[in-house]
Amino acid sequence: MMDFELTEQQIALRDAARTLANDVFRDKAAQWDREEAFPEENKKLLCELGYLGLSIDERYGGSGLGLVDTYLVIEEIAKVDLATALIVHEQNVSPRIIATCAPAALREKLLPQFISGEKECSIAWSEPEAGSDGTAITTTAVLDGDHYVVNGQKVFTTYGDRADLHLVYARFEPAKGAKGIGTLLVEKDAPGFRAHKIQYKMGVRGASECELFFDNVRVPKEHVVTQGTAESSKGFVQTLSVYNATRVGMGVMALGVAEGAFEMARDYMLVRKQFGQRLADMQGLRWMMADMWIQIEAARGLCYRALAAIDAGHADPCLSSVAKVYATEMAQQAVINCQQMFGGYGYFGLLPLERMFRDARMLTITGGTTQTQKNAIANHIFPR
Ligand SMILES: Cc1cc2nc3c(=O)[nH]c(=O)nc-3n(C[C@H](O)[C@H](O)[C@H](O)COP(=O)(O)OP(=O)(O)OC[C@H]3O[C@@H](n4cnc5c(N)ncnc54)[C@H](O)[C@@H]3O)c2cc1C
Repeated sequence: MMDFELTEQQIALRDAARTLANDVFRDKAAQWDREEAFPEENKKLLCELGYLGLSIDERYGGSGLGLVDTYLVIEEIAKVDLATALIVHEQNVSPRIIATCAPAALREKLLPQFISGEKECSIAWSEPEAGSDGTAITTTAVLDGDHYVVNGQKVFTTYGDRADLHLVYARFEPAKGAKGIGTLLVEKDAPGFRAHKIQYKMGVRGASECELFFDNVRVPKEHVVTQGTAESSKGFVQTLSVYNATRVGMGVMALGVAEGAFEMARDYMLVRKQFGQRLADMQGLRWMMADMWIQIEAARGLCYRALAAIDAGHADPCLSSVAKVYATEMAQQAVINCQQMFGGYGYFGLLPLERMFRDARMLTITGGTTQTQKNAIANHIFPR
């Protein structure tokens, strides 16, 4: 039997997030963007309401919910403010890597701190010469007594200037390819570490990206999350499994942006008249809306099917890639089409569509570009 309906609890969870997004987050979304400010007050509220630990196990203070439930919340927030949705989404990246891969001592210490909002953790993987090809990183972690010494440079690290900890991908055994890559946690005030905010970001300006520099940074052995060893790529592969959900998460956020834009266009089309006719009665525009409706429904089906598979314990990496590509590419075009419905008014920042257009661009790039996702899908079709 297949069941595509949400449960009563899921509907209640979604509706509560919808109310919060509309009543509280919508008003200041433009302000965070204009001022390039992190939505601090939104994060505080999200913590107080328990939204930051939705998918983390109850024993660490989380809600122990599945990813479907978690992303129902994130989708609602993304309809009004992608920068705020990203705060909840990011809790499904580094904390989930810690929850899945880190030794017990780190899990017990850090997860409650992440959920309460006391600490934040960035993901520092991309480097100037290693973006899509993440195994080409050159940052090293070399054992010296009870510490690893980290040297290298990262780029595009989201929240790199505010995170208390950075989950750094590094080569523990430089000659051993992907097998030698591991992860360890670097504290923001560690001697030899510094972060530099990258300027002139196009969208999602309530979040910052940074270059990180590591100059002989000493990290206690206990801060290793996954060990890079010559014998096994288990640790590296284990962290990758979390990105199945992250990729779909990008798709769900795109879905939210598309829906938010769609609702605005629909409402405007019901009142705007030209040639004595409402836009909603013009056949060409009605078909544009019908096409968007089809695509939004398709994206919803793909994303939530991919998340349900992960929740059920049989993640489908190919489906996660399909969901990400479809939903993120769809959202870009949907925002453009919705902007078109507003004519000249859509081109100005007084309406949210101009911001949503800039925001949506991020989603086809980060978390694995459209092209690399298509490579993964093609490799599924034609196994090597
Ligand atoms: C807003 C934002 C936030 C980010 N946050 C983080 C973060 O928190 N942590 C982190 O580690 N990274 C982060 N990134 C980095 C992101 O993961 C990379 O930008 C992405 O992986 C692409 O790498 P690149 O920019 O070096 O592009 P490149 O890898 O140089 O790619 C350039 C172009 O070539 C294409 N391409 C590359 N390889 C292939 C191939 N084999 N076949 C076909 N086409 C290909 C790509 O799709 C792209 O169009 C962020 C990026 C952005 C924009």
